[in-house]
Amino acid sequence: METPRTHDLLAIADLVRDGRATSRGMIGRQLGLRSTTVSDLVGQLVARDVLHESTLRSRSKGRPAAVLSFNAHRLGAVFVTVIDQTLVACAVDLNLRVIGTLSAAPPHLSDNDALIAALRRLVADTAALFPPETELCAIVCSLSGLLDVPRSTWCVSSRWPNMRNLDLGQALAEFACRVWLIRNLDAELAGLRLYERHGAEETALLLHWGHGIGAAFAAGGDVVNRNRGRSCEIGHWRLGNGQNRQCTCGNTDCLETVAALWSIGPKLAQDFPGLPQSEREIAAHLGHADLLDSTVVRKALSEMLRLTANLCRLLFPDRVILTGPFVQNPDIFGRFVEALSDAPILRSLDKVRVSVGDGHLAPEIAGALSEPFAQALADMVSCDGKVRPMP
Ligand SMILES: [Zn+2]
Repeated sequence: METPRTHDLLAIADLVRDGRATSRGMIGRQLGLRSTTVSDLVGQLVARDVLHESTLRSRSKGRPAAVLSFNAHRLGAVFVTVIDQTLVACAVDLNLRVIGTLSAAPPHLSDNDALIAALRRLVADTAALFPPETELCAIVCSLSGLLDVPRSTWCVSSRWPNMRNLDLGQALAEFACRVWLIRNLDAELAGLRLYERHGAEETALLLHWGHGIGAAFAAGGDVVNRNRGRSCEIGHWRLGNGQNRQCTCGNTDCLETVAALWSIGPKLAQDFPGLPQSEREIAAHLGHADLLDSTVVRKALSEMLRLTANLCRLLFPDRVILTGPFVQNPDIFGRFVEALSDAPILRSLDKVRVSVGDGHLAPEIAGALSEPFAQALADMVSCDGKVRPMP
């Protein structure tokens, strides 16, 4: 439980971090606190090294002015995500600035032990990028596949099919800080809500069409089911098309078997020679290609359009944000806009805002780290503020 004192300490740290206050006087005016209270609270934050105080020689006579600044290096988090077939880790400071990025590529057939070894090495190397005064407060894994967030468990991933029920809390226990787990699409949508300033009551659907197909949905001011890590597994909706194609999930004839890059990649490479491997490079490669000339793309697109329109009839989002390599192509994006504006039922409502995400990591990092950093700062200012040594 956050006490009133902790609340005030965090409010002051926020004001200074956001540049809305640089002095005790500015803090007191904005928070409506007495000057003695402000001085006491600021003193505690300076003692805990959350705020720095420097004195400027004043031009006029009298006491020199004290200028407060936020110490973004006080705490750091290691953020781990999956891009294509690679684990990518970033060292991130309290201002959500990425200090450095490292990656590891465990082979496709790695089992739990091999993945744990790769993760431990990656996290240790990434944590070593922080300056020595930074305390590692969280390891945040933003992963694809099926997760069990309350148990910090990565259950299944199509990228490493021999991995099963990997307990990340246990695997990363040696780092002596809290391990957080979030579905990567939930993190990205949470971050986009912050970046694009979605209203509290606005509903948003994020739909990713790439190596895999998945979605996340936000309503009521938060991403639905993010605390469980299971939602919108639309890539594995059954098509019932009788083709009996094997999916990575163990079932047959899921949507991914006709539309995901992992399944249509080989045919796509015949139509578009020199097709690269990574989603980002594919996006650049296909950005201005005549994708609609390709039979395999047209088939995949028609399934994706039907799925998206049906999801809109189910969820009625105010916004639809499309991500992945295909939708970067203007012809493909145009088809999505058309499908959503022409559909009866949807047409009679307020227009759905359709946009394309650029695939940068910043929103995913912001969405994944906001809560862990807020929690770690609250824990630190409400206790004795002792610096825990880096592992
Ligand atoms: Zn499947």
